[in-house]
Amino acid sequence: MIRRKVRKVVEIGGIQIGGEFPIRVQSMTNTPTKDWAKTVSQIKRLEDVGCEIVRISVPDEESARVIGKIKSRISIPLVADIHFDYRLALISMEEGVDKLRINPGNIGARQKVERVVEKAKEYSIPIRIGVNSGSVPRDLLEKYGFPTSDALVEAALRHVKILEELDFYNIVISLKSSDVIRTVDAYEKVSEVVDYPLHIGITEAGTFLRGTVFSSVGLGVLLFNGIGDTLRVSLTDDPVREVEVGFAILKSLKLRSAGVDVISCPTCARCHVDVIELAKKVEEEFKSVGKNITIAVMGCEVNGPGEAREADYGIAGGKNGVLVFKKGKIVKKVRYEECFDFLKKIIEEKENEGSNSKG
Ligand code: SF4
Repeated sequence: MIRRKVRKVVEIGGIQIGGEFPIRVQSMTNTPTKDWAKTVSQIKRLEDVGCEIVRISVPDEESARVIGKIKSRISIPLVADIHFDYRLALISMEEGVDKLRINPGNIGARQKVERVVEKAKEYSIPIRIGVNSGSVPRDLLEKYGFPTSDALVEAALRHVKILEELDFYNIVISLKSSDVIRTVDAYEKVSEVVDYPLHIGITEAGTFLRGTVFSSVGLGVLLFNGIGDTLRVSLTDDPVREVEVGFAILKSLKLRSAGVDVISCPTCARCHVDVIELAKKVEEEFKSVGKNITIAVMGCEVNGPGEAREADYGIAGGKNGVLVFKKGKIVKKVRYEECFDFLKKIIEEKENEGSNSKG
């Protein structure tokens, strides 16, 4: 059983992270933020797949000034990603952003840091310190030779110290590297010395396949060891897929159970039906059902009935037709051509029955 390390609770626009709150799935837009309409439309797509916190880059004043417009049109907490320029942080907070991702050690003069921290206190806005292997300070690179896990941790603790000296504790930390082992090591080390919530991720993980594998392995190890209060899967792809992969990782460890989970067999020479097509069709059809249900799509009578019986609903191919299961029992044997429609009908009947009885 996974024992999560209990950390301080931080609130971001009405959503809590840390403590025993669910591990939140985040993503980041890749539209030009100043094109606020395009950014809002991407955030809406992210909301549709369950994204719980969204980050936008704020590279210039024009982007900071449209935050209010974006914020008023979306329903999930908004995080402004800022580098160096404290004025952008001030504008973002005035525009209503829910969290900042900024490294206080990179802001410059103490007075500038103080102004950001004062406003963050006034508006109860948390700050995420985000250390990446690509931005470890030069002196630490000289000390450690390259961005080791210790260099990442030391860099993060420096930023933490700056905030704590200003009596600011509304902090979230991330320590991302594109190297999975180094990232895991860094999070394990930092989790021993601070109790702020940890935002976990593998940075620059790559395109869909590589990014999914690297993130699943890295985040999987961390989550299994109880580390991680919120996560982002970084993919060189549509951010919607980041959210889908994020939830799939959490589901695999039974840390979240959002929506429909389709179990399907890999197919083999025993297969009597087109499992690949059917599983994709089932996944697509039920992806926006908000309830936690499992559907098994299996190819033959060897493992099919067993898995189909264990799931809430199931399909198991056979020589003379397809068995359709509901809650562990066979409902009917149908022809392959009919099985999708039949499955859809029994799921809809059952799920509507649930919502009708709630009135
Ligand atoms: S369920 Fe049947 S068809 Fe599917 S992989 Fe297993 S043995 Fe092959």
